[in-house]
Amino acid sequence: MTAPSLQDGPAFLPAPQPRFDGVDLQALAARLGTPLYAYSANAIRQRIRELQQALHGLDATVCYAVKANSNRAILELMATAGLGADIVSAGELRRALDAGIPAARIVFSGVGKTEQEIDAALDAGIARFNVESLDELRAIERVAGARGATARAAVRVNPDVDALTHAKISTGRAENKFGVSIAEARDWFAERGQLRHVRLDGLHVHIGSQILDLKPFRLALHRVAAFWRELVQAGHPVASIDVGGGLGVRYRAGHDQAVAAADYVGVIREALAGFDGRLLLEPGRWLVAEAGVLLTRVLRIKHGGERDFLVLDAAMNDLQRPSLYDAWHDIVPASTQTRPLATYDIVGPVCETGDTFARGRTLRACEPGDLLVIQGTGAYGASMASTYNSRPLAAEALLDGGRYALVRRRQSHQEMVAGEQSAQDWETP
Ligand SMILES: *Cc1c(COP(=O)(O)O)cnc(C)c1O
Repeated sequence: MTAPSLQDGPAFLPAPQPRFDGVDLQALAARLGTPLYAYSANAIRQRIRELQQALHGLDATVCYAVKANSNRAILELMATAGLGADIVSAGELRRALDAGIPAARIVFSGVGKTEQEIDAALDAGIARFNVESLDELRAIERVAGARGATARAAVRVNPDVDALTHAKISTGRAENKFGVSIAEARDWFAERGQLRHVRLDGLHVHIGSQILDLKPFRLALHRVAAFWRELVQAGHPVASIDVGGGLGVRYRAGHDQAVAAADYVGVIREALAGFDGRLLLEPGRWLVAEAGVLLTRVLRIKHGGERDFLVLDAAMNDLQRPSLYDAWHDIVPASTQTRPLATYDIVGPVCETGDTFARGRTLRACEPGDLLVIQGTGAYGASMASTYNSRPLAAEALLDGGRYALVRRRQSHQEMVAGEQSAQDWETP
């Protein structure tokens, strides 16, 4: 099954969306302006519950992948539900701690942790490092040694599995930059006695993102399980297995379907049967993507020679996924008014052809000022936004049963340019 592309033709007309989590979206947009990200607290809680129920009876910690959506209010929701965090930078470490996620539930992934970041993580007392290279393992040994501390570590193994997802979000092939081969990981364990400041006693795997098919998960976990059994037989401790994230969600109504937590956890239970250590899970997208929408107004309608363009007040700087991954997002009106159908290329105002949300998309005919809802944008939306074209970062609101809270105010021009200055104080390094 291939990921839907923004160029696929119309097949199914998704329903308009006047409300989200009990909040009237027209009223919300009138109040807070557009472009505006809106997140449903109840939709996120529902996903958390579904996952926690599926994990019942297992010693499992869910470490939310902060990069999917790092807004403080979202992290606080995760903290309240008892989740941990999967971080990839010192910035995410601070966000997670500030939101009340205990350090003991934080794991640190990523191929380029700096010594300062390793030091900050040791200082905070995080649960473990997911180590991606021998060079990094030595850096952690060095930094922990300098602090007189012991770091806990898991080796991120690259199981050489094709996740059947978009190439830019596939991470588990031998050719990808992530993790080490099982052969190399075997050597790390064989020589773990030489590590004086690192306790290497965990395995980690993460094969990619937006995975809708359970087969790659199953294949990767079976490879990890075989390795875990081999390590135990060789007398090595395996205290934790981190199965990563990557669960896919529905971006296109009538076309795809989010992975069901029970099915996914069923694969974990089956592949890792008999494992009596701690399981760690790192879902990001699956918890928040469908719990977010991007509200945007139609600025104008441009009738081109060959195509009609709908120009929105949101752009690729607000939501990069269509331009970066060719990703499909359903785009529907907030109004339930019935109008004739029309077909548009839906674009933003940024000066790039890549600033396109959809091509040849059929929806109810639009007029300038109409409010549109770009769905499935709770993950890798605001967290990937930039100020390209000097467009300030969009506002974000959390919705909860008919109420809303502004959780990021719209960036002001002053905030956007803060830190820049004229070249006046010339120095030599
Ligand atoms: C990005 C990432 C995740 C989360 O991926 P999703 O597809 O959003 O679930 C989990 N673990 C690691 C190591 C990651 O890099």
